Amino acid sequence: MTQDASFYFPAPVEQKFCTQCASPLTRMQPPLDNRLRDCCTHCGAVHYRNPLLVVGTVPIYQGKVLLCKRAIEPRYGKWTLPAGFMEMLESTDQGAVRETIEEAGASVQLGQLFTVIDVPRVSQVHIYYLAEVLNLEFNPGEESLEVKLFDIDEIPWQEISFTTVEQTLKKYIKDRQTGVFETHRFTLE
Ligand SMILES: [Zn+2]
Repeated sequence: MTQDASFYFPAPVEQKFCTQCASPLTRMQPPLDNRLRDCCTHCGAVHYRNPLLVVGTVPIYQGKVLLCKRAIEPRYGKWTLPAGFMEMLESTDQGAVRETIEEAGASVQLGQLFTVIDVPRVSQVHIYYLAEVLNLEFNPGEESLEVKLFDIDEIPWQEISFTTVEQTLKKYIKDRQTGVFETHRFTLE
């Protein structure tokens, strides 16, 4: 199960209690640190929080791009590329394939790293790989209402879920026109 609900939401609310001993936390600067952290003065645990990685694919089948219609909030009913939060102990490419299976039921051959998009406003980095769809036996998982292949000129731009998805699709269309697929790294303000 992915945690898409946090997509583009502000960073998680301040943690109030220690996950080690359940004592209330104090926001303070630990020794040898240079910023405020949520610290437990009872057991000494420091609860660091760091940016999250979102991994996904641009699945292509005979020139068409696969999109999923979201069955979960936020952006219920909007179209998205398959993507979600990276899980522990996996690599970005494994996560991208896993999300594509979970959200579209599509088996893919992973291609090149395509976009790396920093979204500091929500402390996330979104990473998309190009991918070739291997067969047409899709199976929308619990997180998708529908899975569909779109011609480039049929993409429902008004119904796209997230800016990172829109930007990735636009880079794909642009690179396809030139025939040179680059890896695009940029920051969304
Ligand atoms: Zn504690």
